Amino acid sequence: MTEPTIYELSSAGRIGVQFPESDVPAFKVPDEFIRTNLPLPELSEVDVVRHFTHLSTKNYSIDTGLYPLGSCTMKYNPKINEVTSRLPGFANIHPLQPIETVQGSLALMYSLQEQLKEISGFAAVSLQPAAGAQGEFVGVKIIHAYHQSRGDFKRTRILIPDSAHGTNPATSAMNGLEVIPIPSDSRGNVDLAKLHDLCDETVAGLMLTNPNTLGVFDENVLEVIETVHRAGGLVYGDGANLNALLGITRPGDLGFDVMHFNLHKTFSTPHGGGGPGSGPVGVAPHLVDFLPAPIVSIIEEATEEIPPLYGLTIPAKTIGRVKAFYGQFGVMVRAFTYIRMHGAEGLKKVAEYAVLNANYILSRIRDKYTLPYDRSYMHEFVVEGCWSDAPDVHALDVAKRLMDYDFHPPTNYFPLIVHEALMIEPTETESKQVLDKFADALLKIAEEAHSSPELLKEAPHHTPVGRLDEVKAAKELVLCCWLPESN
Ligand SMILES: *Cc1c(COP(=O)(O)O)cnc(C)c1O
Repeated sequence: MTEPTIYELSSAGRIGVQFPESDVPAFKVPDEFIRTNLPLPELSEVDVVRHFTHLSTKNYSIDTGLYPLGSCTMKYNPKINEVTSRLPGFANIHPLQPIETVQGSLALMYSLQEQLKEISGFAAVSLQPAAGAQGEFVGVKIIHAYHQSRGDFKRTRILIPDSAHGTNPATSAMNGLEVIPIPSDSRGNVDLAKLHDLCDETVAGLMLTNPNTLGVFDENVLEVIETVHRAGGLVYGDGANLNALLGITRPGDLGFDVMHFNLHKTFSTPHGGGGPGSGPVGVAPHLVDFLPAPIVSIIEEATEEIPPLYGLTIPAKTIGRVKAFYGQFGVMVRAFTYIRMHGAEGLKKVAEYAVLNANYILSRIRDKYTLPYDRSYMHEFVVEGCWSDAPDVHALDVAKRLMDYDFHPPTNYFPLIVHEALMIEPTETESKQVLDKFADALLKIAEEAHSSPELLKEAPHHTPVGRLDEVKAAKELVLCCWLPESN
């Protein structure tokens, strides 16, 4: 770690703030309330501005460069989203206001529900869940509640492909279901023979990500869904990869029963570092009554003179509330803006360019990196970050070396079924020039792995801090580099 002392800028007596003359009588605070051991730094205003401006330039972000983090869809976040989400009518309202006074916000939420229904092919959408993972929790709970409502209590198992995101088994287990992994076949699809064996009257459902986290579209998706349905189970769609499908196909039409959206991924809200996110859930007609409450509805139809009155309704067999009030409203405004700015044609282009960009990078590097599944990919792809003739080099070293070429590393060691996985998702917002630079860097690194592997092993070389012990960094968080001397 960087020496804490370089952050020590304090100089006794220096002042950055001037308080106005007090215009109220002075009050003597009792001595025992006053701390004298508070090591507050003493700095001028310009010292503080420069300190934080310098710190901000040490951050890597989508606004400074390509962020090809597979599965996470780190696309550029258009600035107009920030403008609309900060409009006083959206930003300064309170969730306890009477609904008559927040009709504009409710209209936006209603429209977003309708847009998401249209995009996904589902019958109804609840905007409540606060993130993809919470949407999964909700979806699995809905599946469980559906079976219970029919007196079908034997269904306690959920099938999850071995390529799935960790949140799939986690949210199923949190719902009290037994997680049964299904292997992938040699093309990265769900192994159909295994699926047939496992589908019986104990299966509550299957969770499927399509395209999956290998970046491939499950060619047998219709048969997979039909097999689970025939056994009486329901199919959950992990919608994190919706970016590849926008305007091309709709999960609801394919037969999925329930799916979450990641508004912050597909519909462009800045994320990473913990949020905020939004994970609305869409359902097929037979699950509409189970959605989490409230749903925004039209409670009085428009007339020729008066616009509709929007209100909040509670589905008949709702699984309940999963979030205070109405969910992450600020993210909804951003997603709504993004959808309206693109329109139907624009969203289709998003998917087309996302797929084109991923396949372009792949086509440039595929001779130098091993491809575990040799087929065409969707919006992301997975390669192996290792070579049999460069035995010391691992995916982690490739990822770290990319930082020396000014790129954020891709996702690595996920999905778990790929040896030394590097999972690359460039998204649609990158130009050919950026994609070429990134592909050039990957090719150079493949060469270095053989000619000078130590360059990779010791990377990164040019970042503010070098190679970290990642386990220790995660387990013993130091969020404040400035450590007072008394510590
Ligand atoms: C991101 C992601 C999730 C979880 O979504 P969060 O919004 O991060 O909770 C689930 N599945 C897949 C495939 C993802 O990429």
